[in-house]
Amino acid sequence: MKASPFWNNLFLKHWFASLGKQDCLLCHQSSSGLVCDFCYGDISWFDCQLWQGNLNQWPKIQLALPNLARYSLLAASPYQWPVSRLLTQLKFNRQFGNARMLAQWFYWHCLQTEDPLYPPLPDAILPIPLHHMRYRKRQFNQSVEIAKALSKLTDCHPEYDLLDRVKATQPQTELSAAQRRQNLRRAFRLNQSPAAIQKWQKFQHIALMDDVITTGATMSALASLIQQHYPHIRISCWAIAISLPHQ
Ligand SMILES: [Zn+2]
Repeated sequence: MKASPFWNNLFLKHWFASLGKQDCLLCHQSSSGLVCDFCYGDISWFDCQLWQGNLNQWPKIQLALPNLARYSLLAASPYQWPVSRLLTQLKFNRQFGNARMLAQWFYWHCLQTEDPLYPPLPDAILPIPLHHMRYRKRQFNQSVEIAKALSKLTDCHPEYDLLDRVKATQPQTELSAAQRRQNLRRAFRLNQSPAAIQKWQKFQHIALMDDVITTGATMSALASLIQQHYPHIRISCWAIAISLPHQ
């Protein structure tokens, strides 16, 4: 049967309208990106511009993360819906597109600025390592995926083998602050091969990248370890989200 011009037009109209459309990862409505405009509008962003590129200048964050007070801190949003959902999908359902999107949002909200007082970009991004047992089970590290995507948006080189997690720590969420510090003691090691030492000595400024900062204990343990060995390196702490108490 020959299709009528009317049917053809209607078909073409729908076909063109559907081009580039997909289901929003969060609400499953049709969307032109991974997340629709409505869900994007639900996100509450941290105002990194207001705090001139360091959320530690915000008393609320200073109180919540005193162990990171010495470092520049940047995060895109509080750990809550829908960012929490996107991070869980990345971590447990291997949604790698989420890493690229979250890195893009981090870039827009935390790094893109005209403000001359903003901290300069670091020489390298170092994702927080997973213990090899957990890596073997998960087959990827979500912080590496985010750092990889972020390095494509900046000139910061990603470095994946300078930090090593040598102790399989218990999940931090089940522990008190004192237990977390104990849990993380000697959990990390710096790569001190001749090639790595050359890099450490050359760095002026690095960013540690995690998906979520909860108490800051992990980030702080790594940052102090780096500063013990290389006190000349300036350290920035970056995360997609911060889990604030009573947020
Ligand atoms: Zn949506």
